[in-house]
Amino acid sequence: MDSVDVKRVQRTDLDAGDVEDPRPALVDPFGREISYLRVSVTDRCDFRCVYCMAEHMSFLPKADLLSLEELDRLCSAFIARGVRKLRLTGGEPLVRRGIMTLFATLSRHLESGRLDELTLTTNGSQLAKYATELAAYGVKRINVSLDTLDPDKFRAITRWGALDHVLTGIDAAQAAGLKIKINVVALKGVNEDEIPELVAWAHGRGMDLTLIEVMPLGEIGEGRLDQYLPLSLARARLSERYTLEDLDYRTGGPARYVRVAETGGRLGFITPLTHNFCESCNRVRVTCTGTLYMCLGQEDAADLRKPLRASEGNELLHAAIEEAIARKPKGHDFIIDRRHQRPALARHMSVTGG
Ligand code: SF4
Repeated sequence: MDSVDVKRVQRTDLDAGDVEDPRPALVDPFGREISYLRVSVTDRCDFRCVYCMAEHMSFLPKADLLSLEELDRLCSAFIARGVRKLRLTGGEPLVRRGIMTLFATLSRHLESGRLDELTLTTNGSQLAKYATELAAYGVKRINVSLDTLDPDKFRAITRWGALDHVLTGIDAAQAAGLKIKINVVALKGVNEDEIPELVAWAHGRGMDLTLIEVMPLGEIGEGRLDQYLPLSLARARLSERYTLEDLDYRTGGPARYVRVAETGGRLGFITPLTHNFCESCNRVRVTCTGTLYMCLGQEDAADLRKPLRASEGNELLHAAIEEAIARKPKGHDFIIDRRHQRPALARHMSVTGG
């Protein structure tokens, strides 16, 4: 991010007229109100996780990415339409230059009460640097992706990551008062034996943990079926050690939760392949290039960058959002192409936002 962009964002922040009047809520054709927006702010990352990226990635040219000002306008437009929870993702959101400026400007929606939650999903590598600032901008809870507590395995999974940086980041985030949920991707033959220890570690530090099944998205040069560990199996193994009590707790997303009686902590399962979570879906995603995906598992998308750049006002943007939400499908249809071991969809999670 260059200094010109940063200045523009600050000007936006100072402009009292920039908070839009509330508009009618976004309701899809199946009566689901869109209240949760996930926005990828960059496709870049300082890790190269084997299930997410190839080692040598070509990233998008800067001009294709939404500027921080455009990201602010886009998020604010959705907030004016009833989005109450906003999650910034990537790639790794904290490697986007100037990203604290975006948190700073978006925090005005928390102050006004229009937004309930501003949060992010991070790999934790930059948390030691940013945790205090994030807390100051009203972030209360964050998701940290962490698949193992073994430094060598961590290096093998992330290719470029260092476990101690992430653990230091988690310490800093907890010291800043942020609540943390640990997201663990369950990988066959990699961390499957470590899952009970991870649960004990996370719950022992007062953090929830969610297990995620490998999703069939993106061409990454690894056999998806080789990594695929059904969470039904992981859950069965966990029940040999722990008492798992089903919880009604729902976030409108794909996770199903249990309480682990022995630790008192909450454990989530995200199983997009084996269960359908669409009926309660209240969310949409926007990529770092401004493409709105109404459903993670469908290719149908709407370009919001064009209306954002076509005029300084937001009328075109709102029209494009409305038109897209009217097409939000009822559900998804993930499949792994078992013959070719290829994902059914060709885009990387790092572009859509994990
Ligand atoms: S999974 Fe997350 S941390 Fe790993 S490469 Fe992808 S974006 Fe980066």
